[in-house]
Amino acid sequence: MLDTLTARQLLDHLVAFPTVSSDTNLPLIYFVRDYFAQHGIDSLIIPNEGGTKAGLVAQVGPNVVGGVALSGHSDVVPVEGQDWSTDPWSVVEKEGRLYGRGTCDMKGFVALAMVALVKSKSMDLQRPIQFALSRDEEVGLLGAPDVAQGLLENFPKVASIIVGEPTEMQVVTGHKSCDDVQFHVRGHEVHSSRLHEGVSAVMCAARFVEWVRQQNIKIQAKTPSATAALFDPPFTTLHVGMINGGTAHNITAKDCYFSIDLRCVGDERTEDWIAKIQNQVDIIESEMQKVQPRAFFKMDVMCGPAVIPERDGQAEALARRLTGDNGSHTVAYGTDGGHFQKQGFSVVICGPGNIAQAHQPDEFIELSEFDAGAQMLERLLESLQTN
Ligand SMILES: [Zn+2]
Repeated sequence: MLDTLTARQLLDHLVAFPTVSSDTNLPLIYFVRDYFAQHGIDSLIIPNEGGTKAGLVAQVGPNVVGGVALSGHSDVVPVEGQDWSTDPWSVVEKEGRLYGRGTCDMKGFVALAMVALVKSKSMDLQRPIQFALSRDEEVGLLGAPDVAQGLLENFPKVASIIVGEPTEMQVVTGHKSCDDVQFHVRGHEVHSSRLHEGVSAVMCAARFVEWVRQQNIKIQAKTPSATAALFDPPFTTLHVGMINGGTAHNITAKDCYFSIDLRCVGDERTEDWIAKIQNQVDIIESEMQKVQPRAFFKMDVMCGPAVIPERDGQAEALARRLTGDNGSHTVAYGTDGGHFQKQGFSVVICGPGNIAQAHQPDEFIELSEFDAGAQMLERLLESLQTN
């Protein structure tokens, strides 16, 4: 059977796979592979270590450098605890909007990219169009390095990558890095009346959280650099959103867990902040260990690199030609783009939908945005017919 589906029909299929990051995305990946295969497009599946999830890369067109890759992610955030007025796993159209989990972030773009690849199969492309579909984007951009590698190892290098995250078709050239830094503080349990002999993991963590608070005050008091001024807000942020520790009011807490969401503006390096944080952790840990040598303060960094605005970036120039947007934009959310840039690709973020609808109950994409995304990819295909 060789059914060519519309973008809207493909979106129906994609949304129906409940690819929450904690669950497998393999049924969706196999669907994409099979659909491409039916249209004569070979794709490569790149499984994760446990084989429970995968990314996928594909190419249409001649085996030459200078093409364009479209990047999307297959996973979505959970719907638990959210008040949905429609079934999140089925696309519902009303009042010019398509509702459903992932319609905006970002199965809408994935559907459009699939249409573009299939369409390009019957065109005489002079440069290739490639497709990179990642896993685990929503849980720390974990799958992006694999698909970036997958593109490099299997196909000629593209001149530009368009990451189709929702920007309302604006040309976004930068975002902060976002790092989830997780901490485990191990203290020493004694009865709280013997406080001087114990180490309270909760109180040590609290001391560190207060240090974090002071960093934010210092950061915000500074005048932003020129690059930082492109961001809103124009400064790095460190946020402790969760903390969990202790067992009773009269026992010094043995364990405390918390995490920091660190978002560095373009010219501030995550590595530098991590070093600063590590230094503060070491100071507190050495004091803990004076009381109890087995106490510790450990940190684990889940890294998501920034997209740094490129000087004369090819991807940016391409996206400006395709959309006509000449403004300069940066965003405050992370994308797979940083990993592509790290591998030496020119990257731009430009896709349909508004990020305000991402991750929300009753997530939707405006039909007008969906159409605008389709038009951009139409123009892209036209441009790939020339050298
Ligand atoms: Zn996304």
